[in-house]
Amino acid sequence: MSNAQKNGDTLLEVRDLKMHFPITRGIVIQRQVGAVKAVDGISMTINRGETLGLVGESGCGKSTAGRAILQLYKPTSGEVIFEGRDLTKLKGADMRRMRRDIQMIFQDPYASLNPRMTVGDIIAEPIEVHKLRQGKKAVRDRVQELLQVVGLNPYFINRYPHEFSGGQRQRIGIARALAVEPDFVVCDEPVSALDVSIQAQVINLLEDLQDQLGLTYLFIAHGLSVVKHISDRVAVMYLGKIVELADSEELYRQPLHPYTQALLSAVPIPDPQVEKKRQRIILQGDVPSPINPPPGCRFHTRCPIAIDICRVEEPAFVDYGGGHFAACHRAREVNELLPNQAAEADVPVKTGAPVA
Ligand code: SF4
Repeated sequence: MSNAQKNGDTLLEVRDLKMHFPITRGIVIQRQVGAVKAVDGISMTINRGETLGLVGESGCGKSTAGRAILQLYKPTSGEVIFEGRDLTKLKGADMRRMRRDIQMIFQDPYASLNPRMTVGDIIAEPIEVHKLRQGKKAVRDRVQELLQVVGLNPYFINRYPHEFSGGQRQRIGIARALAVEPDFVVCDEPVSALDVSIQAQVINLLEDLQDQLGLTYLFIAHGLSVVKHISDRVAVMYLGKIVELADSEELYRQPLHPYTQALLSAVPIPDPQVEKKRQRIILQGDVPSPINPPPGCRFHTRCPIAIDICRVEEPAFVDYGGGHFAACHRAREVNELLPNQAAEADVPVKTGAPVA
């Protein structure tokens, strides 16, 4: 756990954030007939200097949540408090200033860089927009410095994105995000499009930059195997809601939600003896539609230990001690009913040696 987390210095707080996308019918007169509830009331805090992992299957709403926090989407309701100010209410110059403090690293290093611009121009653009350096030489010097910071040769400044590998392009994306000296970075599946061997390098780079620059990360990923190496705490999302949130080591040692158990059972165990013997929890059925989520607990249609109450009553998001939150009627029984094989194998956390 980072010192910042121990100090409890909150940098960002999300309060009951909802992001619903309306579904409309009609050509001349459009009327709303429903909504895709991509994010349906999430709350969390992120402490200065820590990394909060946000995990869930494709379509659970995690990337939408990241974009709504950044105000790339206008949230349907809720608050995003950053350094004491509600971002959902900012406009004009205040919003532009906020865009400097919060940056995003995108999933696809191929699509997120303009192929017609040189690397130098890509990284210089935010520096010039925010007037962070005066004069061409000062901007160029800063771009070369940033290339060095992310482990690229400064002489690459005049090259185009297609001349780089996937890992190098992601480093360029990181340099662009750092160009405005942000406090908080949303990393939206930054390694999922990369080769396994390159994933470790990019994650190690992000960790080094966090140590050097005091950055705070929201690290979004679809599996627990990647986030466990970089996160201080982890939030697990299912169908628009956070179902569990805990310190990383605690979450891996003693998950309190069956969905987290299922995700953990998919994490490779480095001990071949344990890996051979363990049983994966295979969830039945598909993720239900976010247009019409199931009543009660949203996970009940796929939960291996669902009981009657789960189908009618939504479980509260309860702190079971030490900041370990879970939304499950059977949270106290989960570890007896579904053995946690990852804990048995004593999978290390935050070792700096990530796997796929
Ligand atoms: Fe499963 Fe019920 Fe817990 Fe939901 S509340 S995760 S259905 S046991």
